[in-house]
Amino acid sequence: MGNSSCSRCGKCCISLGKHMSLAASLSPRSHYLRVGVTGEILPVTVPPDCADLFAKRDPEHYDPSWCPFLRRVEEGTFLCTIYPARPGICRQFRCFTLSVTDASGKVVGRVVGRKTLESTDPALIHVWNEQVKGIQDSDLVVWREKAEKILKDAGFGVRSWED
Ligand code: SF4
Ligand code: SF4
Repeated sequence: MGNSSCSRCGKCCISLGKHMSLAASLSPRSHYLRVGVTGEILPVTVPPDCADLFAKRDPEHYDPSWCPFLRRVEEGTFLCTIYPARPGICRQFRCFTLSVTDASGKVVGRVVGRKTLESTDPALIHVWNEQVKGIQDSDLVVWREKAEKILKDAGFGVRSWED
């Protein structure tokens, strides 16, 4: 969860949930977070402005399979309640909407957040600028379908976050 194009969909933190657990709780706001992937146990403090949200454990706001610090704010929108103190693995995470490969299967670009291309491949950048950038649909599903078709027609392979 994180960069400027993050839609706060929560998918990354829901997915990471199986690797995150509470090692100990010292107070309602002070905890130790165990990061299963790295073996770290980190002290974390829930900021005052997230304390009320963090305290919510009902199904509308929380699911035990998620990261213990993730809360649903409203349908489709999630918040990390220790965002300033989140572990390195969370800081390093970059989500992608689409991963683009060339004819040999090598990844040559990624679409991060919603509609930002990260690539140094001249052919992909050209197709992106000439055909994909101009797609007007604000609906992400429709936008993705159109972008995927253009990229595939141009000979690229496309894998979606939803796959
Ligand atoms: S999956 Fe991506 S868009 Fe969704 S919350 Fe995580 S970083 Fe943000
Ligand atoms: S610590 Fe925060 S950013 Fe990291 S997985 Fe948990 S909710 Fe997401």
